[in-house]
Amino acid sequence: MTLTTVTLPGGTAAVVHTLGVAWTGAITRGPSLRDDLIKDVLHDVYVEGMRMGCDALRRARTAAADITVEDMPHDMIYAQMQVLCTNPECRTLAEHGEQVGEPFLDAPAARAWALTQPAPANDTKESS
Ligand SMILES: [Zn+2]
Repeated sequence: MTLTTVTLPGGTAAVVHTLGVAWTGAITRGPSLRDDLIKDVLHDVYVEGMRMGCDALRRARTAAADITVEDMPHDMIYAQMQVLCTNPECRTLAEHGEQVGEPFLDAPAARAWALTQPAPANDTKESS
């Protein structure tokens, strides 16, 4: 999970959560691999959402359509999901990570993606 800070139009401080999962065995495991990989990403997103207290992530666990899946060289398959979030705690973590962590090479792409998204709901209540 990578966090990228982004400022939305209107000045909202937000975060892009990027979760990527790569699996090998694309050829041997056949077409069900894609579905299994997507399930795995959704599960990871939900677990991270619980761990971080992030509602945007928890809500994203049903958003299979938001996952991009790419075939990679060497019998690999890679799935990536991005979730836009305005949780202040995630923002704090993201800012800290950008100060002390390794630079995230896909940060410009994550920010560009964020600007194409509808503004996230700003409530922090549980969606039941
Ligand atoms: Zn978040």
